[in-house]
Amino acid sequence: MKTEKLSTRLASVAAFVEQGATLADIGSDHAYLPCHLVKAGRITKAIAGEVVKGPFESAVKNVRKKGLAEEIIVRLANGLDAIHDEDGVDTISIAGMGGPLIASILNDGREKLQNVKRIITQPNIHASSIREWALQNDWKIIDEQILKEDHKIYEIIVLEKGQADYNELEIMVGPFLFKQKSEVFIEKWKRESDEWKRVLSSLENAGDTNEINEKKEQLRKKIELIGGVLTH
Ligand code: SAM
Repeated sequence: MKTEKLSTRLASVAAFVEQGATLADIGSDHAYLPCHLVKAGRITKAIAGEVVKGPFESAVKNVRKKGLAEEIIVRLANGLDAIHDEDGVDTISIAGMGGPLIASILNDGREKLQNVKRIITQPNIHASSIREWALQNDWKIIDEQILKEDHKIYEIIVLEKGQADYNELEIMVGPFLFKQKSEVFIEKWKRESDEWKRVLSSLENAGDTNEINEKKEQLRKKIELIGGVLTH
């Protein structure tokens, strides 16, 4: 059977879905991820959730075109409202959004997570919001990946139930990614650190209000934290 060709980013998310999982892909857009996984024989059932009508209709069309309407249910719904009890969802993927939005979707849908074993997230920015959410809600990070595609750097964070303790640096950069310290990881944090230094220097002449001083202090702290990572 011909499988859906995925971007490197989505293929990396797909690799974290376990064989035979019942998946809910939230913010599915064209439903590329569930279509690929079903066609590849990795899963037999999925929910594709979308809150916006246009992408929802694209998902419905794509699923029909691929002849997968029996296997993939497409629902127009906000966040985890796309998941119904009778679906038996055990894995959730949320990819291609900002970390704070992903964390708020998980937080608003907490009661839908009771029977979920694994959550696979791919935040485009501010991945730390997901690590913070995990820490506060008894989910632990079981794996992470960082990758570069078309000059953009993406992180993937995989969660399962359990408790863990992460320090400030681990929340910021990721406990697994920190240990791996890949080339892409170093590139990402060099870029971020350069941007923080640029903002800090532009704030040096911006006045002396409490707000500006607080912002400068936060930036200095982050630059110092990441400096320790980049120099060792
Ligand atoms: N997941 C796909 C990917 O990674 O390629 C699509 C990413 S696309 C940039 C983000 C999608 O999430 C959009 O189609 C958007 O409408 C949808 N979305 C945003 N907030 C959502 C929410 N609260 N519930 C469901 N879908 C949402």
